[in-house]
Amino acid sequence: MPEIRVRFAPSPTGFLHVGGARTALFNWLFARHHQGKFILRIEDTDAGRSSAAMVEGILQGMRWLGLDWDEGPVFQSQRLEHYRAEASRLKEAGSAYPCFCSVESLAAKREAAAKAKVPWKYDGTCRSLMAAEIRERALNNQGSVLRFKVPSEGKIEFSDRVFGPIEHDLAAIEDFVLLRSDGMPTYHLSVVVDDVDMQISHVIRGADHISNTPKQVLLYQALNAQVPEFAHVPLILGPDKSRLSKRHGATSVTAYRDQGFLPEAFRNFLALLGWSPGDDTERMSTAELIERFSLEGINKSNAVFNLEKLAWLNSQYLSSLPAQDLLPLVEREMEGAGLWDAAYQGERRAWFLGLIDLLKTRARLLPDFVSNGRAFLSDAYEIDPSAREKFLKEPSLAVLLPDLAARLEALPEFTIETAEATLRSFAEERQVKPGLLINASRVLLTGKAVAPGIFEVMAMLGQSKTTHRLRRASWEVGGAELGGKSAPPIGHSS
Ligand code: GLU
Repeated sequence: MPEIRVRFAPSPTGFLHVGGARTALFNWLFARHHQGKFILRIEDTDAGRSSAAMVEGILQGMRWLGLDWDEGPVFQSQRLEHYRAEASRLKEAGSAYPCFCSVESLAAKREAAAKAKVPWKYDGTCRSLMAAEIRERALNNQGSVLRFKVPSEGKIEFSDRVFGPIEHDLAAIEDFVLLRSDGMPTYHLSVVVDDVDMQISHVIRGADHISNTPKQVLLYQALNAQVPEFAHVPLILGPDKSRLSKRHGATSVTAYRDQGFLPEAFRNFLALLGWSPGDDTERMSTAELIERFSLEGINKSNAVFNLEKLAWLNSQYLSSLPAQDLLPLVEREMEGAGLWDAAYQGERRAWFLGLIDLLKTRARLLPDFVSNGRAFLSDAYEIDPSAREKFLKEPSLAVLLPDLAARLEALPEFTIETAEATLRSFAEERQVKPGLLINASRVLLTGKAVAPGIFEVMAMLGQSKTTHRLRRASWEVGGAELGGKSAPPIGHSS
């Protein structure tokens, strides 16, 4: 089997969006599966719409997703002379001809066709100009484009690895432009010249390019080049079944990074947009994706972008990744929230890793480590009003919890087990349900109604913070009516 060589060829007229990233991923997985080469090509011939910032954004998105390329980036804007040379070669061989029709005359003909309700196709006015006439017009500085001479009869066929055999009548294909009047190559010319030069074996790209393929196959043939295999991947639709766009939320890949998705999860999610391993496995490591990826697994039907599934995958990855792997990401979040302390990478590292393990099972996005972790790292956390309303209403808690605090304070060893045994025997002694104390403690210790297991929370906070916060029940429960005191802000010693 010849070497597998695939490419990702974004136009840097926008950031790396979900559809582009999915195309890049499929190419990358295919290359890695076959130990082939993945080439990055930047299609920046449209100088007005391309920008260096967009190129940088695309590279950043690819790096975030771990899609490393083996060759490139190759910039088409640096190869213009080469496209012109190839265009001349086609002209010399009689496969292309200059067309002097003015923009105005073509527009008028197109309009007339629209009025008559017949499909417009370039009518071949300049197709058979004699060499002398061409010379004369050129001498008169008459502007021209270069058109490809599409054979006037027969069929063009190619087989798509996803969509199957496709054929078109040549009569329906117009003599398309290869070089514009300013000497710039069109997409068809540059893409085929590059794919030939780069010895691309498989063109894997969005299904929106399927209609371009017949023209490109004609070009390969005219250049006497081997036609690659094509695999067009289905479109991605938003949940409302219209084509995925900015309307459906952030579509640039780096925006997902910024929202706190993990690259592993996002990659897994992208892989499932239009491909399946043949069974209902959804969560797959990168090694597994590489192992299982095949063009046969690509679906014909459009893929639907499901944000819920992405969030689910992300939470799955968060809860299963080792704390050490999450540490740098959580550090960045904590730093951003002003909650980071160098000691968490130093003498308190083991404790901090324990905290990550405690929080990760409930995290959906990286910022959840901040919202759920704040009470462990700082005394400046808020008590959620609805949690207070639900679990701190019972007036007896104002006495029960400080008493419980005294018991916990007296423990010679403060662990998950001793804290639990103490709370349960205390509940029995005072003839209250343990749940009453547990729920109220959770709200006081974390500010939230939902948090990890209360005894893990206590052990993580440590004896002194736990007892200190439980004593605050005398202010937090019933407020001024009970103790007659106004509550000091959390964090101030009582
Ligand atoms: N530059 C084209 C695009 O961004 C891709 C061309 C191709 O893959 O053939 O849509």
